[in-house]
Amino acid sequence: MYIILFGAQGSGKGTQAELLSQTLGVPHIASGDLFRKAIDEKTEFGLKAKVYIDRGELAPDDLTVTMVVKRLEEPDCSQGVLFDGFPRTVAQAEVLDRGLQGVGKYIDLAIYLQVPRDELLKRLSGRYICRANQHVYNLSTHPPKVAGVCDIDGSELYQRSDDTGDAVQKRLDIFFNETIRLLDYYEKQNKLVEVDGNQDIDQVQQSLLRVIRTRSAS
Ligand SMILES: [Zn+2]
Repeated sequence: MYIILFGAQGSGKGTQAELLSQTLGVPHIASGDLFRKAIDEKTEFGLKAKVYIDRGELAPDDLTVTMVVKRLEEPDCSQGVLFDGFPRTVAQAEVLDRGLQGVGKYIDLAIYLQVPRDELLKRLSGRYICRANQHVYNLSTHPPKVAGVCDIDGSELYQRSDDTGDAVQKRLDIFFNETIRLLDYYEKQNKLVEVDGNQDIDQVQQSLLRVIRTRSAS
């Protein structure tokens, strides 16, 4: 099965994708990772993508999709794939559909890991990092034993400027504005399922597996 998993930053999407990929035995494909690897290995895609990334721009959709579709030809993808954080926009979703059609494939399921905005805000703005070694804490999910002090090295904890209120709100705005359109896109194709991401890690994982098994049995 070809499955897309989307969720906002702070929704736990990365963790869940990692667990699902292990349980289902299918690779977990994130376009950002593909670009990094292509750039490291200086492949044709890597060199093309680097031009944009060096300018601080996003790589064009057709380049991203071509790279993703190419990745699907590798033998470990024969049983299916889990897409993480891709597609990001409706334009990418359309190019992806066309790219898959070209190789006789299609997306089976799009799962939206739903977490209420105020909960995301709480999780994201609770992030603190230690000055000495950048150990990461979270006031709601992984608080330090002593407030404001790193458990491991005793150094002071601080917040990055992009983890404070306004920056977090802006990131969430971008996500919600784009994602609503993507949800529509997959809803119209009867591929969308929402999973409650506001539960503990195990419960979310079980819900995801139920949804996937139901869909693959039908
Ligand atoms: Zn530390």
